[in-house]
Amino acid sequence: MKPHVARKRFGQNFLVSPGIVAKIVEAIRPQAGDTLVEIGPGLGALTEPLLARLDRLHVVEIDRDLIDRLRGRFPPERLTIHEGDALKFDFSALGPDLRVVGNLPYNISTPLLFHLAACAGGVRDMHFMLQREVVERMVAAPGGSEFGRLSVMLQYRFEMERLFLVPPGAFNPAPKVESAVVRMIPRPCATLVATDETLLGEIVKSAFAQRRKMLRNTLREYLSEEDWAALGIAPTRRAEELAVGDYVRIANRLAEAGITSSSSRS
Ligand code: SAM
Repeated sequence: MKPHVARKRFGQNFLVSPGIVAKIVEAIRPQAGDTLVEIGPGLGALTEPLLARLDRLHVVEIDRDLIDRLRGRFPPERLTIHEGDALKFDFSALGPDLRVVGNLPYNISTPLLFHLAACAGGVRDMHFMLQREVVERMVAAPGGSEFGRLSVMLQYRFEMERLFLVPPGAFNPAPKVESAVVRMIPRPCATLVATDETLLGEIVKSAFAQRRKMLRNTLREYLSEEDWAALGIAPTRRAEELAVGDYVRIANRLAEAGITSSSSRS
């Protein structure tokens, strides 16, 4: 078989460092009976060692050439291949207690994380390789420029931990940027619950759309001075200065007042 030529449009940077592959698999700790799905198996750098520890594995891959190679290499009763776009894949259909892993295509990592966050209810954990800069935004604390919509919406649903950094030389072709591996574990339901999560998402989006402006202005459509006073949040603050819990309190106050997300209004 001819060697595969990496496709830029599919964000293909294949892992070629056995040491890093071993470190990722060790972090995941796959157990035989786990229900595990790998996003973007590519040439199988992670797929093979994962499958060595599991009874079976699901993969979601968009590139047909890579799918043909995977079919030739792994038996269908062990490797279930879902051909298509992970952005459209219904991860909740794979059952409860799902484990999700992947060296993600960097060009779609943010929409993919939002898509996965929507299925968090049925997930046990997720381990991803991403651009270091994205991982830093995911785990950022309020107060800094890295804290944004991605931080709030993911920290609302997950406990996240940056595990280790991965240099460009661990991939072929080598990306221009450093990467990092992150662990994401859904938060227990009892903590930080927004009664209307779509409304929460809308508020966070509006607040960070103009992150240097005061919240009094960016959230003018939603909150009056009286609301800010009742919430105990100074309306002169900026989006990056509020904690995740503050956004949840804002959303819940609005929901209690009967305000719904614009998508449910239309
Ligand atoms: N797991 C392999 C590795 O570590 O060497 C490949 C990682 S590579 C960074 C990303 C993989 O995701 C590629 O196999 C690519 O074809 C696949 N991919 C890209 N976009 C995708 C999408 N929208 N849905 C599913 N897979 C996708």
